[in-house]
Amino acid sequence: MNPTDAATLNRPPLRRLRRALLWGALLALLGVAQTLLVALTLNYESTRAQDAVDTVAAEAAAAVRSEIHGLMQALQAMAWTEAQQPAWRDGAGALLRRRQDLKRVEWRDPQLAVVDAVDTPFLPHLFTQMARTDLGVDAELACKSARRSAAPMFSRSYFVPLPGGRGLEIMDLCLPVQQAGRAHGFLVASIALTTLLETALAAPEARRHEFSFVEGDGTRLARAGVPRGAGIYVAERVVDMPGTTLQLRTDSAAGRPSLIPNLTTALVLGLSLALFSVVLLLARDVRRRALAERALAEALAFRKAMEDSLSTGLRARDLQGRISYVNPAFCAMVGYTQEELRAPRTTVPVVPPYWPPESSAEYLRRHALRLQDAGRRTPDARDSREGIETVFMRKNGERFPVMIYEAPLVDGEGRHTGWMSAVLDLSAQRSVEELSRLQQDRLQATARLVTVGEMASLLSHELNQPLAAIASYASGSLNLIDEPDASTPEMLRHALGRIAEQAERAGRVIKSVHDFVRRREQQHENITAAALIEAVLPLARLQAHKSGTRIQVDLPAPPARPPRARCDCTMVEQVLLNLARNGIQAMEAATPPAERVLTLRARQAHPGWVVFSVIDAGPGIAAEVAARLFTPFFTTRAEGMGLGLSLCRTVIEQHGGVLDFGPGPGGRGTEFRFTLPASKVAETGETSGSPIAA
Ligand code: ADP
Repeated sequence: MNPTDAATLNRPPLRRLRRALLWGALLALLGVAQTLLVALTLNYESTRAQDAVDTVAAEAAAAVRSEIHGLMQALQAMAWTEAQQPAWRDGAGALLRRRQDLKRVEWRDPQLAVVDAVDTPFLPHLFTQMARTDLGVDAELACKSARRSAAPMFSRSYFVPLPGGRGLEIMDLCLPVQQAGRAHGFLVASIALTTLLETALAAPEARRHEFSFVEGDGTRLARAGVPRGAGIYVAERVVDMPGTTLQLRTDSAAGRPSLIPNLTTALVLGLSLALFSVVLLLARDVRRRALAERALAEALAFRKAMEDSLSTGLRARDLQGRISYVNPAFCAMVGYTQEELRAPRTTVPVVPPYWPPESSAEYLRRHALRLQDAGRRTPDARDSREGIETVFMRKNGERFPVMIYEAPLVDGEGRHTGWMSAVLDLSAQRSVEELSRLQQDRLQATARLVTVGEMASLLSHELNQPLAAIASYASGSLNLIDEPDASTPEMLRHALGRIAEQAERAGRVIKSVHDFVRRREQQHENITAAALIEAVLPLARLQAHKSGTRIQVDLPAPPARPPRARCDCTMVEQVLLNLARNGIQAMEAATPPAERVLTLRARQAHPGWVVFSVIDAGPGIAAEVAARLFTPFFTTRAEGMGLGLSLCRTVIEQHGGVLDFGPGPGGRGTEFRFTLPASKVAETGETSGSPIAA
């Protein structure tokens, strides 16, 4: 898992809070929408129910009006027939049978006395409880009003008790009858309000509503339809009739809109919406996931191509040392396939097949050490960019050097789970280095031979003297032997002694040349600066002698600790001799013989470094010469090769030091300086830390 994934896992609390708030707001909005939906639905249903009741009420009022109108017409038709005539009675009887809401028809004289009366066959004893000879006050008023206006008039309704405690609300219709312009009498019809309602109303509405005539104070006079309205959706209409008014009240049996089905509907609707949104979100998520997967696949393919193209071996290991990943370069390096390397190793401790058996124990020890070390440090601190050199083994048994750069593997929760290593095969680099070292050695040897070649005349001169001395002592000795006397043995001894002395001197010259030219194995050793200078002095003196140059050795005087360097002595001797020779040669041309002094100096300038100086009293180095001084084959001397200084610099740099130059002390001559690592043997002993890697 990469750090980006880890970051996603460890989402900051602020973002989580924001997300939770968003979800909360969304749910609250959904709740509000649901509630509103329910409320609006309920309101809509109520309005619809009220509208329906209003319509039914209007229709019912119209029906009642039409019924009354019909009644009035039927009665007016009866007014043409004279009372007490069979025709009238028949007509009245037929009308009463036809119109059930009509309970009684009377013919009254102008003084309102009953002339004739016919009762409905459906309720013949309506007025048995209440005498009907005298008209009720209401009917009387209606008749008077009818007479005045010469138009039918209705009375206010009144209650007529019936046997058995029941009763009927009756309303009278008074119709004035005139003959030849004079009042002839009245037709009075008694109408039962309940029956009027029942007759007027259509059956379907009557099954769903309660209809009633009510008074202004709400007293119910007559009712029809369902036994009881719910009292929620109520509509009232006024039915105007000549002489009176009736209030028709329509009360629907329908109750309040029920919450549960509406809530259910709203819930279903809300959930459907939510589901739809979720499906949309899911679809978007799936699309984004698909895109992310494609990007991931591309990134993986890219990474794989990159890893496959690497020439550096990559290896991932867990804390137990089991290999979890290797790239093709690593397989090619060690000669094992990925399967062979990644095969589960159940034996603990884990020993990979590319560890040389002779080093396995050591590598295991290092691994355990590193594990301990890793446990003590934080994951960040574990990160080491320092390479570690070690030796691996190929499948064919060949050992080869590798450089390992290792970094800890940290999972998404910051736990250390293993190591990722980049492994470099150093064998090619090593062989190149070896080749270059050999070439360097050869070049050094050649340079030494060249130096000696240049010094050949000096050598022959130096050897000539002892050889000439030997020759003269030898011929003197021969003469002594030819002419012996008493002192002969003594003189012979002296001559032979001188011969031996001179032979030894010649031998020393030969040996110094031999020592210098002899090619030794390159090795670093700890040596005092004095010993280094001492080694080159015979040859330097040889050269100095010719031009009369004096050589001074300047070393720190006791009790100061003598400087010690760690270096390849042969190489450094060559450097010292080269610099000394250059100094002597520089002084040969322009410096007066008395001033020709060459100083060889060594100082411990720093705890880690020893500085050597070769100081001459020559003319110094011109700027144009200085610029090209270290260029190979640059020389100003006819017999020079121009390799000396460039080789000197290479040697010093190989030791980790630097070689430079400047004017000598007091601005006179030239000082060549070079540094060498100081030897630490004296203080710490010969210890070298072993790197911890396998
Ligand atoms: P070579 O000695 O074969 O000429 P070097 O590389 O040793 O080659 O020296 C290169 C040149 O640097 C010399 O030819 C000389 O001109 C100059 N040089 C070296 N050392 C000194 C010195 N101490 N004083 C003046 N010139 C020097």
